Amino acid sequence: MAASSAAGCSTSSNANDDIPTYEYIDINTKPFHVATFENLWKQTLNPKYYSIRDVHQETDEEFAEDIGIPTGTVEELKVICNPDTLRCHPENQPPDTDVVPADPGLMTLRMRKRRQDYRETLIRAQTCRQDLYAAELENLAIGKKPVDPEDLLPEGEIILSVNVLFPVITERFKHFKARQNLQVLGSQKLTDLRDAICCLSDLQVCGEFSDTPDMAPEFISKDLFKSAFLFLEGIFYNDMRYPECKDLSQTVREWAESHDMPTFQTAKMEETTFRDLKLKVGYPYLYCHQGDCEHVVLITDIRLAHRDDCLDLKLYPLLTYKHRMISRRCAVCNLYISRWMTTNDSFAPTDPCLFCDICFRMLHYDPEGKKLGDFQAFPYVDPGAFN
Ligand SMILES: [Zn+2]
Ligand SMILES: [Zn+2]
Repeated sequence: MAASSAAGCSTSSNANDDIPTYEYIDINTKPFHVATFENLWKQTLNPKYYSIRDVHQETDEEFAEDIGIPTGTVEELKVICNPDTLRCHPENQPPDTDVVPADPGLMTLRMRKRRQDYRETLIRAQTCRQDLYAAELENLAIGKKPVDPEDLLPEGEIILSVNVLFPVITERFKHFKARQNLQVLGSQKLTDLRDAICCLSDLQVCGEFSDTPDMAPEFISKDLFKSAFLFLEGIFYNDMRYPECKDLSQTVREWAESHDMPTFQTAKMEETTFRDLKLKVGYPYLYCHQGDCEHVVLITDIRLAHRDDCLDLKLYPLLTYKHRMISRRCAVCNLYISRWMTTNDSFAPTDPCLFCDICFRMLHYDPEGKKLGDFQAFPYVDPGAFN
């Protein structure tokens, strides 16, 4: 790709602070200003290498000269590497992808065979779509063009890859890091990233709703508690878009001041674009919302947009990976994902007990919606709700 990776820059003693150099090798760079780095890039690169519109088709002669081989060899390579030579079935006969030749030479086929053999040894068949799903999500938007030409990505836009780690909400998360990967544009506001991060804490409903189950969806935490901050390079970027937003960083800043630490600055998340930032690639930053739901945020890469990237402005921030979580199903039907948790419930086999919306209502209310028996009901948000 013409737009080379920022994270790929090697360690050097370059005096220019606007070029990312590694502070700790292979871990994180020193801080640099995103927009200045972007401009340096554009000054250096020939626009034809990152242009989205003017696609320069390299001729065989140019290609031969580039890699230093005779033009005749290029012709020969074209014949040998033609995808048609890979076909082992007639075109009108679809291949059976489950059949692997007995002694495959290709590494991909050998790996497929190993996986198939392993699956046969499993006692319980697990339908795990994680691998397939992750790859699908990443490939879904490659080279995607917008319906409205107005939404085409501007020429020379920069794309930042962001890893957002989930806080440890289940025991399993202590052993591996569930995460969400997103691509944001340099021109986007920090609030665009904040809105794209999906976290269970935002969907929690506080309260007991056994008397009024229809009221529950109106009380999700995201609507009630809108404050959040991103802490990047010693600056707290607060989300202050709504009148009810509070400066969540105040407590931390006051604590820092009383402990003889340097004074931290604050800025508004909605007034800052990624281009305005000074940051380190690969360095763990903090995103905090819902009071104390803390996520580690890493910028893993900064690069110029390429025509193979998603070209639809409206799809950014673009989700490229999302960890899938196991859902807990209803105790009655064992089919649908749980939506309610009850306690002190004489109808339930366990205490607490999880129910889907349909079973919960059928079991606990008469056809007129009158509550039957004595129990407490709390809306339950399943970790798999975002799958
Ligand atoms: Zn969260
Ligand atoms: Zn059910």
